[in-house]
Amino acid sequence: MDWSSIRPAVLAWFRQHGRSLPWRETRDAYAVLVAEVMLCQTQASRVAGRWERFLARFPSVEALARAPMSHLLDEWSGLGYNRRALQLHATARVVVERHGGVVPDDPGALRALPGVGGYVAAAVAAFAYERPEPVLDVNVTRVLRRLAGVTRPAGLRALASAAVPPAAAWAWSSALMDIGATVCLPRRPRCDVCPLSPWCAARGALRAGVAEAVEAYASPRQAPYRGSRREARGLAVRGLVRAGPGGLSPAELRPLLPDGHDALAVLRALARDGFCRERDGRFVVAEVE
Ligand code: SF4
Repeated sequence: MDWSSIRPAVLAWFRQHGRSLPWRETRDAYAVLVAEVMLCQTQASRVAGRWERFLARFPSVEALARAPMSHLLDEWSGLGYNRRALQLHATARVVVERHGGVVPDDPGALRALPGVGGYVAAAVAAFAYERPEPVLDVNVTRVLRRLAGVTRPAGLRALASAAVPPAAAWAWSSALMDIGATVCLPRRPRCDVCPLSPWCAARGALRAGVAEAVEAYASPRQAPYRGSRREARGLAVRGLVRAGPGGLSPAELRPLLPDGHDALAVLRALARDGFCRERDGRFVVAEVE
């Protein structure tokens, strides 16, 4: 790919069209870490206000590390995938205990934190520390695959690494994310306004109406949330938080769940995952000692 031509076009587009997002106003690594964990499975529009509220309640990694788990789950309520809250709490404790309260800048050290995968590690390294790491979320992956005409994920990381301009890692990854979120849409890419169009391998196929070219690179559709196991778990976590130290019994949880879910099985699964503990037939949020 002709990155020396592509980079200036993308960075110029970003200066004009980049989204204004609250977490782009900071380079504080803890704040960036919280944002990136939230953004993993929740849309940016839903994260915006919640991120600010979260930081107001837990303003530092130390504050998060010593917070009761029930407060954290309460604050996380509605964001979904509560396991992320559990892992973020564990990460805060490790950062305080092993890294002196400073979120590491090295992607390898970041990946060693509880629940921090390749995406969050790269995002913190790039967005907080300007390290030239490729940040491959689902949108950026789609953009790069279309641009380079790559139908398989293999080789994409090397391509993405070669693309990052060493002196503009933050702006580059932010720009690709914005192109993915606003221009190179999964099913209706807006090639006519895309800064990558002069170099894009998929563009010709899309213009010719080859449906497979869109489908092949579109993100998979999410399974419905209503009535799902995920919804049942989310409702159970909310019930546990509201119940407080007295805990929740399966009989009390049952009316809160969608049809077809076994309250005891849901609570036991949450206990196995570390959300709660079983005590005399009741379940209470598991606080870390
Ligand atoms: S030209 Fe079209 S397919 Fe290619 S990256 Fe841009 S929006 Fe996506």
